Amino acid sequence: MKQKLSDEVQFIKGVGPRWAERLSKLGIKTVRDLLYYFPREYEDRSQISQIKYTAVGEQANFKVEVLKTEYQKIRYNLDLLRVTFSDGTDVVNGIWYNQSYLSEQFEKGDQYIISGKISEKNWRKYKRKEINNPVYEKLDSDASVLNTGRIVPIYSLTEGITQRRLRRVIANALKSHAALIEEQLPGSILKKYNFPDLKTSILGMHYPKNEKHQKFSRRRLAFEEFFYLQLYALEEKKKYNELQGIQHQFKAEENKKFLSELDFELTDAQKRVNLEIRRDMESKKTMSRLLQGDVGSGKTVVAALALLQTIANGFQGIFMAPTEILAEQHFLNFKELLSDFNYNIILLTGSVKTAARKKIEADIETGKTDLIIGTHALFQEGLNYNNPGLIVIDEQHRFGVEQRHSLKEKGDSPDLLIMTATPIPRSMAMLIYGDLDLSVIDEMPPGRKEIATFWRRENRRQQIYSFLKEKIAAGRQAYIVCPLIEESEEMPGLVSAEELFNDLKSGFFKEQKLALIHSSIAAAEKKEIMESFREGKIDILVATTVIEVGVDVSNASIMIIENAERFGLAQLHQLRGRVGRGRHQSYCILISDPPGEDAAYRLEIMCKSNNGFLIAEEDLKMRGPGEFFGTRQHGIDDLKVASLTEDQELLVKAREEAQLIVKADNWQQHYKKLAKNISEIELKI
Ligand code: ADP
Ligand code: MG
Repeated sequence: MKQKLSDEVQFIKGVGPRWAERLSKLGIKTVRDLLYYFPREYEDRSQISQIKYTAVGEQANFKVEVLKTEYQKIRYNLDLLRVTFSDGTDVVNGIWYNQSYLSEQFEKGDQYIISGKISEKNWRKYKRKEINNPVYEKLDSDASVLNTGRIVPIYSLTEGITQRRLRRVIANALKSHAALIEEQLPGSILKKYNFPDLKTSILGMHYPKNEKHQKFSRRRLAFEEFFYLQLYALEEKKKYNELQGIQHQFKAEENKKFLSELDFELTDAQKRVNLEIRRDMESKKTMSRLLQGDVGSGKTVVAALALLQTIANGFQGIFMAPTEILAEQHFLNFKELLSDFNYNIILLTGSVKTAARKKIEADIETGKTDLIIGTHALFQEGLNYNNPGLIVIDEQHRFGVEQRHSLKEKGDSPDLLIMTATPIPRSMAMLIYGDLDLSVIDEMPPGRKEIATFWRRENRRQQIYSFLKEKIAAGRQAYIVCPLIEESEEMPGLVSAEELFNDLKSGFFKEQKLALIHSSIAAAEKKEIMESFREGKIDILVATTVIEVGVDVSNASIMIIENAERFGLAQLHQLRGRVGRGRHQSYCILISDPPGEDAAYRLEIMCKSNNGFLIAEEDLKMRGPGEFFGTRQHGIDDLKVASLTEDQELLVKAREEAQLIVKADNWQQHYKKLAKNISEIELKI
């Protein structure tokens, strides 16, 4: 029978049904899976030392011959096997406890490579050179050395699978199937980057000849992983862009009117991004763009300008926010921003009741409504838009990636603008949003003062409150964010919003106006509270993370975060972003006592930096990509070799190369293998 890489792993020498079962627990079903099961690390056992010249206690490898074996029963449940080896310079004993079955293994005259440390204790005690439990490998005439005397792969294991055996099995698979590994990448790329071919790379991952071999192999495979994902994403993007989109006309008059009514000038970054969006909207292609900008960088006006374009062209604008509070806020915001225009703007959220809803839905369907602002309710079944021209999604990281794709099916390919305040490191954005064009607002509106951030311990609470009182007396407002809604027995020591609210209201802040807001408060009430806060009728808002994203009250200038150690960097940065939105000097006070080492590091970063991108990079480094997003992310979780934090330069190259290829019409015909490979990428988004 002809061998294939898709053969079941059972057909590899050394793998029976039982082992096949165990391997499947590691996700290994086919020979290809096995060959792509790469070591998690390596141990360099390639240097051969001489026993006589090797210091006691030093890790070393020796090429030796068996002189004799002794077996000794020490107690009823303890026995010892001592094998004496010589390398011609000196002798060394290998010692094994309770592994008497090994005595068969070592016969006088056999050649071995052994690895380990010469025991200091035994040397002191008996003046004998002995290695406890050495790694050993017999030097047969044909068998290749796998466990020592070379750079040795160390694999992640599962129950019933040993390093020795797995190494042997993978070596067998390489022997029987490596010849079947076909190069997949275009020769021009291999040449340009000096990459080894695929077969050499896979060999180099398991059994590198030297360090360089391993490094080059890894580099090539990491590139390849990025490359396919980019090729796939860019092809998707091309397809989306090629959909016959709406060709918006630039409406100079409306544009001018809008800008003249603003009480500020757009920053250069806002202008640039506005232009990028405008170009997309004016072109025939369908826009599919990600707008990144740190909290407070002013994404909303940019979105408003784009929405104005679509409405002025006679289309409907759709704006989706992640929470009701935010939808509400944006609704008010847009009404204000567009107050000089005679447009029909409505709010649609889950809490709009049936009767009102019917009317709203009818108005949306007939096209009476120009701008629709809302939450997920905007994309419920059965709601039909009349003629959507642009969909804007705010704070995308709160939305599932699937939604993004389902959006594309609404209407006749409306333009799509996704905004995110989570400053995703560029590398990550490329990977997750590789199918989107990227615009970045990398500049804050002028006059913003850095938010002064302090980390304070519990024992400074009184001073913090006095400080807060002063600021309130001066007319400012504050947020206090707690990790819990109510007291919890499971988590003693955590400050709950209810408790703190009650304490402060009847204690230190008797004279001030306080309100409590969290997720289990009814939507209508939440709305009322936020309104009062916006109007300055509330001094201190005691809250949970419901206020994490987007809330915009420029007079609020103090943010106090309780149990700050409980929050991740991205979250702390988001929370802090609620202040520093106006002309007042703002403060963020992190109360934490005593945090672990990681938490302390996070708090220090917060105190040092206001830069969201830098904070995101740190966050990514500390937590790794998986946790950074909290959910499964297509692309990121599929990386076996490449690392988002360490291989960013490769990712950029992979994207460049993929771009070059996808650019050409019918590239699939020139690169049949690539086309086939990306058609097999299993899409989880
Ligand atoms: P985000 O990017 O976090 O959504 P917003 O759009 O909510 O930020 O803007 C934050 C605040 O900055 C708002 O109060 C907005 O009116 C104001 N703002 C936006 N652009 C400018 C600008 N160019 N100059 C001054 N203030 C601005
Ligand atoms: Mg915003």
